[in-house]
Amino acid sequence: MLYSDHEVVNGFVMDWCRWTPAKCNIHVWRMEMDRIPTRDALRKRNIIIEDSLCPLCRSEEENTEHIFTSCFIASTVWNGINSWCKIPSILAFSTRDLLDFHTVLSGSERKKEAVQGIIIISCWCLWRARNNVGFSNSPIKIENILSEVKALGFLWFSLRSKHKGIEWKDWCSFVNM
Ligand SMILES: [Zn+2]
Repeated sequence: MLYSDHEVVNGFVMDWCRWTPAKCNIHVWRMEMDRIPTRDALRKRNIIIEDSLCPLCRSEEENTEHIFTSCFIASTVWNGINSWCKIPSILAFSTRDLLDFHTVLSGSERKKEAVQGIIIISCWCLWRARNNVGFSNSPIKIENILSEVKALGFLWFSLRSKHKGIEWKDWCSFVNM
């Protein structure tokens, strides 16, 4: 069900990425449907949340758009992805902007597919970092989120995409894409 190229789910056209694992694709699908259990979403379901601040930046209320687009941590991650992949700024005002970003890129299909998956993995890693905040007392390290995206992206792109044979050094400098 999840792996046709486009699927209309409750009116949303989902452009499934073929090389990212189902857990990541399902995560962005839930993000797009606003079904991520952010503090705002839990409050709307009458679950008592004493602290409504975003666990990542601790400066604004947490909701889906915030945590993946306007949060300081998220926008710093997007800046990191911009400079790694040498692509124009990811100026996302909504989660839809993130998921559509690859469609307006110039360059090869391979590059577009790579960027599409990298954005999906970044959303998944941001959410994981957010969930881990409570378990470790150390502050969020944005460079750790970026290294995780890079490493998982390489693993999955080289194993699961149709573009086999990419080398780690090329992936890290995002050349020959
Ligand atoms: Zn935040």
